[in-house]
Amino acid sequence: MMDELFDKVEPRVVAWRRDFHQNPELGNREFRTSAIVAAHLKGLGFDEVREKVAHTGVVGVLRGGKPGPVVALRADMDALPVREEVDVPFRSEVKTEWNGMQCGVMHACGHDAHTAILMGVAEVLAQVRERIAGTVVFLFQPAEEGAPGDEGGGAQMMIDEGCLADPKVEAIFGLHVTSNHHTGKLGYRSGPLMASSDELRIFLRGNQTHGAMPWLGVDPIVVGSQVVVGLQTIVSRQMNITKEPSVVTVGVFHGGVRDNIIPDEVKMEGTIRTFDEEQRDAIHDHVKRITEMIAAAGGAKARVQIKRGYDVVVNDPALTDFTVPVLERVAGKENVGVVDKVCGAEDFSFFQKAVPGVFIRVGCTPPDREIRASAPNHSPRFYVDEGCLKLGVKALSTLALDWLAKAQPKRDGAGD
Ligand SMILES: [Zn+2]
Ligand SMILES: [Zn+2]
Repeated sequence: MMDELFDKVEPRVVAWRRDFHQNPELGNREFRTSAIVAAHLKGLGFDEVREKVAHTGVVGVLRGGKPGPVVALRADMDALPVREEVDVPFRSEVKTEWNGMQCGVMHACGHDAHTAILMGVAEVLAQVRERIAGTVVFLFQPAEEGAPGDEGGGAQMMIDEGCLADPKVEAIFGLHVTSNHHTGKLGYRSGPLMASSDELRIFLRGNQTHGAMPWLGVDPIVVGSQVVVGLQTIVSRQMNITKEPSVVTVGVFHGGVRDNIIPDEVKMEGTIRTFDEEQRDAIHDHVKRITEMIAAAGGAKARVQIKRGYDVVVNDPALTDFTVPVLERVAGKENVGVVDKVCGAEDFSFFQKAVPGVFIRVGCTPPDREIRASAPNHSPRFYVDEGCLKLGVKALSTLALDWLAKAQPKRDGAGD
């Protein structure tokens, strides 16, 4: 019976996904997308549909026919400032201005697929709601890729606005399509899966002088170069790399205007990625110490700013143990496997900080295409094979239903 429902909803999920793909919207601007989502949930007779959550988010509550626990499913809705290069009939022609530059808008991370999949799950579960013992909360999240300017948004803002509180969510599942695996494959990983991501800014103040007479000033370019090298010794010399990997990258180095002038100041920007919150804090300390000490050694002054971004995506081990056999049943044992850690970041981590959660990966590269020839997420050539959509619907629907069924007896028992 469930298989029939999955078959029936598949062409609709494909159509929704193509529509979203052709009409992508940036973070906190998902007005059209969220209106379609909200109308869909209302049409399905959801008990509650909350709109404008964290700017443009939608929270849908579907109460089953019997009492029971509460599980949440999450999809992100935002697109990226990328000009699409994929030749499909529903390619995006949408243009926008980003940081003062003209650019395209594209669902280059596959969030169009996530939104369509979760709409499909809503449709399937609404049809069997009488049999569901418990409640399913649907979280359609804006701005996963980050909110514009200092607007705030995304998962943390949805939590702050109570999306996990009423009804009180006890477990959460989410998925992400990935070009690293073929369609039909599902990937999981217990514990840390995706990295924390922090922005690094360094300002080095020297003392401007003639390039021919460096002894008369303080050269922030030479000091900055030493800082770059010094920062590279954090991971290689100061972190226990047998515990978790980490990355410190300097991606911006600005200083000077003319070949024979030593400038006053150098500005650097970078990113810090870790898979462990303790190591994350330790790296921040090392970055500050190394930068300040090297600057002092050269007679320069340093100012270090680290802006904490997304936390580590950590899949709850017990919930992962529950998830794996469900995925194997849904996709076939041979199609489910442990995936490598991902140095990218995801704000699904904030949901997981609040309640036990599992984030799975769904392969979306066509079976006849080589993985290394497939463009990664965020590329203008990122391509989602629609064959993965039904599997995504099946996976999330079954995880929700099975989790509610499994959580039931524990709840009926004494104490709870
Ligand atoms: Zn992304
Ligand atoms: Zn994404």
